[in-house]
Amino acid sequence: MSSSSEISRYERGVRFTPSLGTTVVHVILMGAQGSGKGTQASLLGPALKLTKIATGDLFRAEIASASNLGVELKAILERGDLVPDDLTNAIVRGRIASLVERRANGEDVAGALFDGFPRTDVQAWALDGILGDLGESVTVVIEIDVPRDVLIRRLSGRRVCVSCGAVYHVEANPSRVEGVCDVCGDKVIQRDDDKPEAIKRRLALFDQQTAPLLDYYDAQGKLTRVDGDRTVDVVRESILAVIKLRLTGSGLHQA
Ligand SMILES: [Zn+2]
Repeated sequence: MSSSSEISRYERGVRFTPSLGTTVVHVILMGAQGSGKGTQASLLGPALKLTKIATGDLFRAEIASASNLGVELKAILERGDLVPDDLTNAIVRGRIASLVERRANGEDVAGALFDGFPRTDVQAWALDGILGDLGESVTVVIEIDVPRDVLIRRLSGRRVCVSCGAVYHVEANPSRVEGVCDVCGDKVIQRDDDKPEAIKRRLALFDQQTAPLLDYYDAQGKLTRVDGDRTVDVVRESILAVIKLRLTGSGLHQA
């Protein structure tokens, strides 16, 4: 956005973390299924002291806490319905507020790493509202970009044991004998969900949902694409470099 919002964000950041002297960071990680997003999120969170905010995890935690939201959520998921945006937003809001509070209380947390949220432009606007209410804003959005044919190869290589559920991959982690489970000896199959046609449909839906989201962040100059068709370590280093560059180059650094 404008440079004035950068300034106010800086001022608010100072006010929110007077004792820590650390940068307030909100990183959004985006990428299709098979892009390695989940793997990168689990590596980057601890490395940067970012608390991972993944809606799937939050839903499970909320249900386990048996809060009012959790009870409502459980009923929705048991019906097989999609969780409505307002409910998702309420849960995310609670999570971010507690994170800001923990930081204000001197806990060594640098911010949040969003994994799988926001998923739509409506959720992105809501996230901006939630962060704005707390005097915060999105720092950087990283898209892990993997060519379509590579994604399809990665995803369609998945094989699952019909009995014990052991998971294999024809290239990355094959069973010792093709079609036979190492663990229990039963049949190893490709699920319908993992067949190229089903994968293509899922990826098309993902594109359709996320294209406006990527445009939204790109227009704010917050989006960086990282080539995800490389090893996990190389991709991780690239993402770390992008985040560090943002922090030192954005006026957010509070050294
Ligand atoms: Zn098995």
